[in-house]
Amino acid sequence: MYDPLNDSTLPAKASRVGYWTSHSVEWPTPAEQLPKKTDVLVIGGGYTGLNAAIESREQGRAVTVIDAESLAWGCSTRNAGFVMKSTGRLGLKHWYDTLGPQGAKAMAAEHQAALERIRTQVQHCPDQCDARDGGYIKLAHNPGAVKALKEQYDFLRSIEQPVSWLTQRDVADKLNTAHGFAGLKFDDCFAINPIKLAASVARQAQKAGATLVEQCTATAMTQVDGGWQVQTSQGVIVAHSVLFATNAYTTQRLFPKLARRNLPVVSSIIVTPPLTQAQLDATRLSDHYAYMDTRVLKYYFRLLPDNRLLFGGRGAIRGADADDPRYAKRLLAALHASFPALQGISQWEHFWSGWVSVSLDDYPRVMSLDKNVYASMGYCGAGVSFSSLAGKRLAEKACNIALPDLPYYQSELKPFPFAGFRRLGQWAFYHYGRMKDKWG
Ligand SMILES: Cc1cc2nc3c(=O)[nH]c(=O)nc-3n(C[C@H](O)[C@H](O)[C@H](O)COP(=O)(O)OP(=O)(O)OC[C@H]3O[C@@H](n4cnc5c(N)ncnc54)[C@H](O)[C@@H]3O)c2cc1C
Repeated sequence: MYDPLNDSTLPAKASRVGYWTSHSVEWPTPAEQLPKKTDVLVIGGGYTGLNAAIESREQGRAVTVIDAESLAWGCSTRNAGFVMKSTGRLGLKHWYDTLGPQGAKAMAAEHQAALERIRTQVQHCPDQCDARDGGYIKLAHNPGAVKALKEQYDFLRSIEQPVSWLTQRDVADKLNTAHGFAGLKFDDCFAINPIKLAASVARQAQKAGATLVEQCTATAMTQVDGGWQVQTSQGVIVAHSVLFATNAYTTQRLFPKLARRNLPVVSSIIVTPPLTQAQLDATRLSDHYAYMDTRVLKYYFRLLPDNRLLFGGRGAIRGADADDPRYAKRLLAALHASFPALQGISQWEHFWSGWVSVSLDDYPRVMSLDKNVYASMGYCGAGVSFSSLAGKRLAEKACNIALPDLPYYQSELKPFPFAGFRRLGQWAFYHYGRMKDKWG
């Protein structure tokens, strides 16, 4: 798999991957040619870039979106479809402690706005992106994890968030798993089919008047009178503003000020064959809910509308190893450990991976990098809902519209120190995580 830390450019004409591609969706017809000029050039055609394009059009700007591959080839067609009311890895408790009650309330309101935005977009989609509305449940994977999860629940209730507490018995009513010692249910979160959302947002962007160009890789840029001249695999385009929406797929070389700002981390998913009625009865899995656990190295899973089980977690460290079946086998072993009743499933039907963008301080930024150059990235694997709002914020920033006074919008992503050792640090963290999850 393409590796943003090692490869200097993206692969030529790579196809979209994974289970979601088996659904037929209507993508907009891309432009045949790259325009010579545009007001706003958005690099990256996933949720962030397409939403930035929609907002740029709202602001009356001519906008061109380019993607090195097909539209939304990156995470936006590879994710698990959990629409969560958060981003990054820091909970509202962290923001309460650092910003105080009003600050935490403002952060919660921004997360709520992101969720509402996705809800509206889902309604634009003919079959509502196959949305499943039962909620997202965080499961205590061992008895030791219950206390911290309950504290999280108590805190969220104290600031009036719509969450419910599930005792071990309540969890057992919903799910027969070996790792469900309690649950924190986020009542208003939901799950969708991510490729349907991506195609729907792409259609909306085109309808709004954005020019969408596929197989067009940005390779270099220089400042010129009135903006930036961007070299691409389809020629040169001059733009007043450039918006980076390349997230974890950003190469280290394209724009020096973006290098070292994130750690691309592989997340991998397997999808099983459809579960039999006996397997559904034995596990009590229902497609209403989406689940994640409390491990340091988390697993996440959901029953899909066609009764296949999607099960995901950390993958390889290097892109070169990402497609190695041993990572799928590892996920299958974790699935068996969670659901002994599914021991009979010996093979996966789909296995794929993607890069999530981890920031040094665990939360994303919509930031200014240079004169008329902006970027949004660092969602840490929680970007389905937030990237939609972040794309809008990115375009607003480029139009000099004041953004809410929140940490996401006030500073740049911090560069990783000793960036050359990022992978070594990740390897050490995985070892720590494995130990903590086993013994901690
Ligand atoms: C396996 C997996 C599961 C996930 N599950 C969830 C989940 O359930 N819930 C959740 O909230 N988040 C999840 N995420 C994260 C979420 O999918 C992302 O945060 C979100 O999709 C980011 O969207 P984006 O538009 O910023 O980036 P992407 O969708 O990754 O788009 C970036 C695009 O930039 C293009 N690009 C890069 N460089 C160039 C260049 N030089 N020129 C032109 N184009 C370029 C790429 O081709 C790519 O299409 C998951 C991620 C993975 C990998």
